[in-house]
Amino acid sequence: MSELEQKIASYLDRLFPLCRSLTGAGNRETLEILQELIPLKIIEVPSGTEVYDWTVPLEWNINDAWVSDGAGNRLIDFKDNNLHVMSYSTPVDKICDWEELQSHLYTHELLPDAIPYRTSYYERDWAFCCTQEQYQNLRKAGDALHVHIDATLEPGSMSLGELLLPGKSEKEILISCYICHPSMANDSLSGVILTAFLARHLAALPDRRYSYRIIFVPETIGAITYCHFNETSMKAIDFGLVVTTVGGTGKFGYKQSYDAGHSVNILIEKAFQEAGVEFITYPFDIHGSDERQYSSIGFRINTATITKDKYYEYPYYHNSLDNLTFVNASQLKTALDIYVLLIKNIENLRYFKNLKPNCEVMLSRHNLYPKTGGLINPNNFEMKELDALLWILHLSDGYTDTQTIAKRADISHEYILKISVFLEQKNILKRI
Ligand code: ZN
Repeated sequence: MSELEQKIASYLDRLFPLCRSLTGAGNRETLEILQELIPLKIIEVPSGTEVYDWTVPLEWNINDAWVSDGAGNRLIDFKDNNLHVMSYSTPVDKICDWEELQSHLYTHELLPDAIPYRTSYYERDWAFCCTQEQYQNLRKAGDALHVHIDATLEPGSMSLGELLLPGKSEKEILISCYICHPSMANDSLSGVILTAFLARHLAALPDRRYSYRIIFVPETIGAITYCHFNETSMKAIDFGLVVTTVGGTGKFGYKQSYDAGHSVNILIEKAFQEAGVEFITYPFDIHGSDERQYSSIGFRINTATITKDKYYEYPYYHNSLDNLTFVNASQLKTALDIYVLLIKNIENLRYFKNLKPNCEVMLSRHNLYPKTGGLINPNNFEMKELDALLWILHLSDGYTDTQTIAKRADISHEYILKISVFLEQKNILKRI
């Protein structure tokens, strides 16, 4: 295992056991541990704060929880696995009969040994989640079942993490991950740890072209809250990445942003090709993660997601088998490598503006037409040069990046860059 993999493994081990949710001590501790890697700013937003159509919820914290039989044997214990308690369960301490308890129990239909992950953020309720064997043991244990959830649900705050890395350009990229899942490794811890290590990589770049806005937020309500308090900046974002489910054993894939032709999608495919890995393409879908907020009408940020065992798609999704047997540091590192390639490609994007936008440029006048001597290699003229030149002149409006032009022209990005620089020297293009 490389030094970097060992470091990733140590953060997987430390962060995995913490009980995270929309709010609470587990989230705060997670962000504080990440501060060892990056200078993350922690922002606390009080419960009850109105954010667009939503309200920041009460803060939930849990100390202990169990169900015991008449003899005091704990048949389910929160200390064994924090997925045993439905997230945001209300406090309870009472003796139940089986019938009552049964209506507050969840098992996994397809995986008998798995503890399912359940939440009830906005409906006040309590529940336990367990394996099918535990369920049967409870059923057999009789009608004097002691149910105990020592939790608090009271005004407090929701914790968000933010890191702004300025670059030469004001053009800004959003990198977002969600910190609200308890002990599950692929969804969402792999995304949280990858984002922190990617942020470290970005922070160490000597010469960033783009600016980067990197955020660690609870899914949905955290992203909405962040958009609410940073509306102007978020509306100016160039494009975004939601980092999640990047540590599984399966195939790589990526979920496209809402505009499939956007350069973020082109750049991700290029990164996969450079790494020589096969990948699945998931077209944009209205379901998913925080791209739902970032792509909404008001923001319309093209936001894509690279995955290695995408959420919804793997059998251990949202249950206790999504653990550190399924996810390991070397799998996560291969995904980090793809993100690093992607950043390299993002940093290589250029924007040019055609200084003669009204009708076509008279190529022969600038000694650019093949008949009058060709372009870069007058003796070895290829049609590709004329194609590249015409596509560049057609698309260089100052907003369309060189990668998008390369894709549209079906010519390599390196070649498009070379011809663009040549046209810049001829004072036909201006670099933006
Ligand atoms: Zn999830």
